[in-house]
Amino acid sequence: MKPLDFDRLRWKESETVRSLLKKQNTLLGDSLESLDRLIYLQKSINLLSLQEIYKVMVEKLPFILSIQYFSFFIFDKNRRRLSLASHNHPDLEEGYSLYQNDSPIMKEAMASGRYIFEQDFSVSRYFRGRKNPLFSCNFFVTIPLMIENEIIGVLNLNDNENGLYNVGDLDFALNVSEFVALSISNAMLFERAEKLSITDGLTGLDNHQQMQTVLKNEVIRCKRYNSTLTVIIMDIDHFKQVNDTYGHQKGDEILLEFSTIMKKFCRSNDLAARYGGEEFFLVLPETPIGGALHIAERIREEMASQKFQSKGKDFHVTVSCGIAEFDTARMQSAADLIKVSDLALYKAKNEGRNRTIQGNADDLIDA
Ligand code: GH3
Ligand code: MG
Ligand code: MG
Repeated sequence: MKPLDFDRLRWKESETVRSLLKKQNTLLGDSLESLDRLIYLQKSINLLSLQEIYKVMVEKLPFILSIQYFSFFIFDKNRRRLSLASHNHPDLEEGYSLYQNDSPIMKEAMASGRYIFEQDFSVSRYFRGRKNPLFSCNFFVTIPLMIENEIIGVLNLNDNENGLYNVGDLDFALNVSEFVALSISNAMLFERAEKLSITDGLTGLDNHQQMQTVLKNEVIRCKRYNSTLTVIIMDIDHFKQVNDTYGHQKGDEILLEFSTIMKKFCRSNDLAARYGGEEFFLVLPETPIGGALHIAERIREEMASQKFQSKGKDFHVTVSCGIAEFDTARMQSAADLIKVSDLALYKAKNEGRNRTIQGNADDLIDA
């Protein structure tokens, strides 16, 4: 080989090596940047509240994943429904939900357990020829989020400035979706455990402890803002006899039915609790005594008219109620309010049951 040829070959070889190194550096740089973004996301998404996680997703996902829009739907396995939990899409309404069958792309992604990637959604087989608020005419990725083979939701990503999503982007999005799935699943477990600790197992109402906590806070609020606060205590009449006659299981059914009636008359700010065995409690913030009386009477009447059956026989069960209003001048605490309502209930029992009696703060002095 002539010296000139040799030099040319060496030059070519060094060019190849240089270009390879350049490529590797770019790839390494990209990986480092991806890793950086992943750590950044993981730090902020490792929260125990679902609402906080959804907020972080809105703030960070578009930047981290280089996308314009995303929507995340929680999947309810029993009802086969997808409910919008987090998104940054301008056309989607809060509280939007749909049956899995109404979204072929999300349904298929969930059934196969695999992502679906469409470079142009408008020419894909999922496009149904009408404007869907979930996409424009750009790429679309649907990723099922799974924890131990259980689908917990679906993440949709679409659009960015250059209209392109490459293999690296997609791979990164899949890694990110695993982080998101893990955080959401942890938060769900945590919230479920929290809910269990404040819920009565039989009726699903709040339990005694939760009722005490809420009532204490409401009394503080009432004292500070001089607002109105009333409570209703309810006790099923002759329940021991009901159990003895129709059996304990029938008794449980009656407790459940009564809790359903209570819930029916509750507004979103009210608290309905199982106070003890066959005793129930309602905390009614911003409700004057007249309103509480009306609610107590409607619950009592509905319970009295409810027909129960056992061994082909119909029977009725009644309930007695005591109501009380927080009196800032004569009551100190939540315990005082409970005491006054309890004394009223005692009177209702003594006066023949199946009635509502209004308590008075003066009763505290006599008690
Ligand atoms: P009163 O009209 O004076 O309230 O009479 P009562 O029989 O309802 O009152 P008592 O306190 O004597 O009896 C309450 C009964 O409630 C006794 C108890 O076995 C029953 N009970 C408490 N918790 C449950 C429950 O979870 N399930 C069932 N089936 N019964 C329960
Ligand atoms: Mg009782
Ligand atoms: Mg009773």
